[in-house]
Amino acid sequence: MAGSTSAGPLIYKFGGSSVGDAARIRHVADLIAGAPRPPIVVVSAVGGATDALVEIDRIHQSGGDITVALDDFASAHRTVAHALLHEHAGSRTRVLARIETVAARLSDLGDTPLGPESGDAIRACGEELSAALLTAALDAIGTPVRWVDARRLVRTDACFGAAVPDEAALEDAARELLLPAVAGGSVVVTQGFVGATEDGRTTTLGRGGSDYSATLIGAAVDASEVHIWTDVEGVLSGDPRAVDAPRVLGRLGFEEAVELAYFGAKVLHPGAAKHAVSRGLEVRIRSTFAPDRPGTRILRDRWGPAEIAAVAFKPEVALIQVRSHPSAIPYGFLARVFDVLTRHRLPVDLVATSHTSTAFTLDVSAEISAAAAELRRFADVEVRTGLATVSVVGHGLLEEPGVDARVFQVVGRTPVHLVSQASNVSLSFVVEADDASPLVRRLHRALIEDPS
Ligand code: ASP
Ligand code: MG
Repeated sequence: MAGSTSAGPLIYKFGGSSVGDAARIRHVADLIAGAPRPPIVVVSAVGGATDALVEIDRIHQSGGDITVALDDFASAHRTVAHALLHEHAGSRTRVLARIETVAARLSDLGDTPLGPESGDAIRACGEELSAALLTAALDAIGTPVRWVDARRLVRTDACFGAAVPDEAALEDAARELLLPAVAGGSVVVTQGFVGATEDGRTTTLGRGGSDYSATLIGAAVDASEVHIWTDVEGVLSGDPRAVDAPRVLGRLGFEEAVELAYFGAKVLHPGAAKHAVSRGLEVRIRSTFAPDRPGTRILRDRWGPAEIAAVAFKPEVALIQVRSHPSAIPYGFLARVFDVLTRHRLPVDLVATSHTSTAFTLDVSAEISAAAAELRRFADVEVRTGLATVSVVGHGLLEEPGVDARVFQVVGRTPVHLVSQASNVSLSFVVEADDASPLVRRLHRALIEDPS
């Protein structure tokens, strides 16, 4: 298991905005070259590229003509290649050739079955190009670097669009493909988000999955630390658009990070945070704009007195209230409800329950009508939308008497549809969408800015 004292490899992960244009890629290459030891670099697609590919996929699936969208995608990458490598004819030629290869593949997917499988073949192309660009940028500044194709590294099942990686296979592949390169003093660049099935069909881990790639690879090589480089200075105590004076959190427990990831703060992909906790990895969120700042350390265990760290909110929430029919048998109710949700693959956020009724929240985009129809066979079901979840996230919240009281005092007369506190790290309220922002601002002010 990884530990902070081991000198295992370093993992650096860069998001799409960090490699958004030639200047940013050059900057990232300098950061990598200045690392204490050559890191394994996991890179997302150039900002906006995956969205463009999702659109290409949509056109492709509907039988439309992708020519224009594909031209835009390819020429955006050509522009970056020219600006980045104008003094390096050799690498420029190689990167431009890769752009053409990828564009040719996109315009002729051969016998790849139409549907989720062709979707992944398309969506994975952005990372192939960002990896090529970053590799060339490192090479251009004289940093020894090797690209390892994630499709050789991250073996997954065939659940296209949300593929599940095989961690044992990844460990073997990392031993063969990553560790010797790193031991030889070379930076390794690989694609985030992307994997392949055992028989070589391209898969993806789901949108935003590069963080998950970084923690997966980190666990496979027993990394000493995984650094998630982004363009914010770390995890903030509140969304700057909602609170007056957000602060950068120096440290955060993993569970708090998971809560924050679910409830609004887009700091770390929830799957990555969960995976990192389970593997005991040290994760740091750092800013490419302020590389000398410590950023936020995400720790497996956070000690010390109870503390409210952040206030987050998630808009677009649906609340489902399920009340057992009076004639129904008095036990097994929750099991039946959750069985329906599981079969319909509906991910529940918050739950509150009593003897004969239960209420839970889902993202409004979830397809709930079929599940609701099934639930109505044995219960009354009410679906409410136009709601938001506001969560106070911290550490030791249940242990410290009086913390909840302070929170409830601030909530005051705001109408609340559901309260949920399942653990020490969060206390959440479902409120009307219009009430969410003012409540977040008041909670942040009272509990974090001015907690006297
Ligand atoms: N490029 C992929 C996406 O936009 C993966 C990622 O950014 O993490 O979803
Ligand atoms: Mg991206």
